[in-house]
Amino acid sequence: MLMNDATATNSSIVAAYVARTRHSAEAYQEACLRLPGGVTHDVRYMRPHPIFVARAERARKWDLDENVYVDYQGGHGALILGHAHPEVTARVVEQLGRGSHYGANHELETRWAALIQELIPSAELVRFTSSGTEATMMAFRIARAATGRAKLLRIRGHFHGWHDHVAFGVVNHFDGTPTPGVLPEVAENVVLLTPNDTAGLHAALAEHGSSIAAAIIEPTGSNYGQVPVAPEFVHALRRATDAHGIVLIFDEVVTGFRVARGGAQATLGIKPDLTTLAKILAGGLPGGAVVGRRDLMELLDPERAATRRIEKIGHQGTYNANPVSAAAGIATLEILRDTDAIERTHAYAAQLRDGARQVLVEEGVPWGAYGTFTGLHLFVNPNGLPIDPATFDATTLPFEALKIPRDNPVGLKLRLAMRVHGVDLSAWPGGPCSAEEGEIA
Ligand code: PMP
Repeated sequence: MLMNDATATNSSIVAAYVARTRHSAEAYQEACLRLPGGVTHDVRYMRPHPIFVARAERARKWDLDENVYVDYQGGHGALILGHAHPEVTARVVEQLGRGSHYGANHELETRWAALIQELIPSAELVRFTSSGTEATMMAFRIARAATGRAKLLRIRGHFHGWHDHVAFGVVNHFDGTPTPGVLPEVAENVVLLTPNDTAGLHAALAEHGSSIAAAIIEPTGSNYGQVPVAPEFVHALRRATDAHGIVLIFDEVVTGFRVARGGAQATLGIKPDLTTLAKILAGGLPGGAVVGRRDLMELLDPERAATRRIEKIGHQGTYNANPVSAAAGIATLEILRDTDAIERTHAYAAQLRDGARQVLVEEGVPWGAYGTFTGLHLFVNPNGLPIDPATFDATTLPFEALKIPRDNPVGLKLRLAMRVHGVDLSAWPGGPCSAEEGEIA
């Protein structure tokens, strides 16, 4: 079996990790017999083996060997209130006792939608999906149906789920060629822009503007700001999409209810035409939504579509707005609305970034600690750029430099070492942070 630098057996970090995670190693061997790569999500893949988690509570989780970790995965960003929040759990359990699926309307879905409308003013109407991936699929369909145009404008490195239109140009294939299994015809209908390249934006619109249905962006940058996007660029995108009649989609699957109660759009002061939501939206259970302009969302409404003499677009989904996800989502959004959990998480993340920066400075490590809002990013500088950690500014580095492959040996070793010391970082490496971590800081 090939070993890269990070999993070389002569590494003391790897040896220490392997020694304390023996039950996870065994569980992983068993998983590999049944699951391709032994995992169920690409980012959970890790050499020499991932940890297997037995339980989680508040900011912590425990693996099969009873090692405890402060968790910076945060349910891939879904858990701003931490694991097994008592109020969210109580409402979920209560709802489970009343049934998990009615195959019918229920009042919780309306209450859930009302909360979203209250927190995100651009949400004139709401359609629930079961994931963020489905939400971006749906947003594209609405935009294409509304404009009669085929093409989509995306930003290199920005993640919008795993369906065909968004599968390439995220971690590789930055030239826009399709990844395996994606049709060339699909890729040909996607125009890719480099983040913060306003001249490139205008050039792309001069060439394709009248055939682009939608532009989609992670409004604080790819992977929650790993490659920060300049607010001026987002404003330029809003102006340019308005000028060309293009539907602007903010993908707030991560930033929604995290950057602010009203999402990144509230902070930026920009009103997108459509917004995609998931993760925090459903309080740690499966769920997503497309929200936005009434005239666009009405394409899903049989009567309104008929009145407007247009053909309605289709949308199904067994688990859309299931009452258990709705209960978790309502409980979470109410807590975020009524408490200072978001502000506390921001303050904690800032403290964490400062602390990480101080360690880098004291140890003379030419890396960067950065991020905004509730995010921590660690730039591990695999190509040895001349970096002063005290003054590191991610906005001065090009996208190619910041977008480090997840399997880079330095990042992997950092994550393994942090696990040995009881901290589970997200693969960026870094973390989205939760309000609970702040409580134990
Ligand atoms: N958009 C963004 C910005 C995301 O971060 C994600 C998930 N990481 C998605 C869309 C896809 O959401 P899901 O995993 O629920 O399909």
